[in-house]
Amino acid sequence: MSGTQARVARNLSELGVDTIGSPSAPMEERIRLEPILTALVQAHLAKEERLPGQQPIIHPRVWYNDEGNTLNVDLGREYVPDTYTISFEERLNAITSIVYEAAQPTRIYRLNVWFDGRDIFYYFPEEKGPADRGIADHKSASRAKRSLRTRVLVAAGHGVYYNSRFKDWRPQREPSNFVVEDFITPVFARHLTRHLQDRSDAEVFLARSTQIAIYPESAKPWLSMAARYHIKSELPDFTAIWNSAGREPSGAGLNERDQDIRSRPLYANHLGVDAVIHLHTNAHDDASVRGIRTFHYSNSSESKRLGDLALCYMKESLGSNSSYASFPVSNESRADNHGENRLANMPSIIAELGFHTNEDDAQAIRNDVFQSLTMRGLEKAYRMFREGHGCEHFSATYPDVSVVSESSVEASVTLGGFPRFPVRYASTIEECPSGIICRPVMGRFQNASQPLTVTHTCLAAEPFTIRWKVVFTDADGIQAQTTTSLHCQPKSG
Ligand SMILES: [Zn+2]
Repeated sequence: MSGTQARVARNLSELGVDTIGSPSAPMEERIRLEPILTALVQAHLAKEERLPGQQPIIHPRVWYNDEGNTLNVDLGREYVPDTYTISFEERLNAITSIVYEAAQPTRIYRLNVWFDGRDIFYYFPEEKGPADRGIADHKSASRAKRSLRTRVLVAAGHGVYYNSRFKDWRPQREPSNFVVEDFITPVFARHLTRHLQDRSDAEVFLARSTQIAIYPESAKPWLSMAARYHIKSELPDFTAIWNSAGREPSGAGLNERDQDIRSRPLYANHLGVDAVIHLHTNAHDDASVRGIRTFHYSNSSESKRLGDLALCYMKESLGSNSSYASFPVSNESRADNHGENRLANMPSIIAELGFHTNEDDAQAIRNDVFQSLTMRGLEKAYRMFREGHGCEHFSATYPDVSVVSESSVEASVTLGGFPRFPVRYASTIEECPSGIICRPVMGRFQNASQPLTVTHTCLAAEPFTIRWKVVFTDADGIQAQTTTSLHCQPKSG
């Protein structure tokens, strides 16, 4: 791909210096990884079942662009199926996932998939989403008048659907490490809904029902059903939303599963919500692959911004709990082609809340604390998104103070990031000279507009120093830690 000339000319990229601010893989890494990534995709394709129209022999090629900041995969014209289906999309996403995970040391999050040098919409132009047609991220003036409250569609991934080949009702995903994705995503949705209502004052719409009553057609509880059936019962006349495109080749039995995926963004467009958040858990053939990821549709910069913030603030939230502080969270939202995002005409992201194929992740996914922490972070991300903030974790600096005995000094605390007030603080004593009574520091800052000061006094015949570890906890439960010290000086004379 890259000639010797290009290799010599791109010294800056080789040093990892990128002129447009995104990470760049060093040249030697690219040269090492390109054949490895190509072989991985090749091996995957060799055991993959073909869709109608796809050729048996595929010659994939994976390479970095000259800048080293984007990966390219070309699957050839041979990989294009007769019809565009969610099954096809899932195959593409499995391939990009293989490439991303294997290329992770180079931290490249941009990936283009080509089919003989053309993108997929060359072959299926009718599948272009609003972002490709230039009507994404709409801002409706009438919306602003209608209500000041923000409106969000929370879409719990998957759910039971009717498989017309097996003539039964079944979940879309297989159980793995005691997780069935279809049934765990509504639990995350419940947490997220509550946080969005409480903290973002959002009006929340749900793609799936929360009712335990039985859906007569399937004889299964409504809450286990895929969005398609819920939307159908809400909007029976709007067949274009829940009955759109049953393009799966006859025999696969997956038409209603495809319609389910498509019904979610189409429902969001119908409602005219401000954003869509799709909740999923992830899967990978390699059980060691783990961590939180987010995905957005490539042509939507607002979705990318929301996806990046989602990662940032989920990481921040997990950081406040020692059990999950080191839980792996991706650095950057990834552009991928998911119908769920592509067909939405507002910011739309998929949050993959760990891999149910990894034992550690699956254990977290099943844990109420993890569910709450991640959804708390996701809500904050949406709030920051709306307020136009970037990614800055909560932090605190608390200067050391020097006090003369029997007087007082105000320590000025500085809080970084975007804490929600009131902010409480409490300390533990790290160092206390013998014979001195050291008291912990504690209190609260009611709001950001009042000065963030703490008054210190002391009583000393001889100089001494006390050290504290101080933990600040904001109203979201996010914590920031720092240390401070007080040096007490006897009164002179
Ligand atoms: Zn999923």
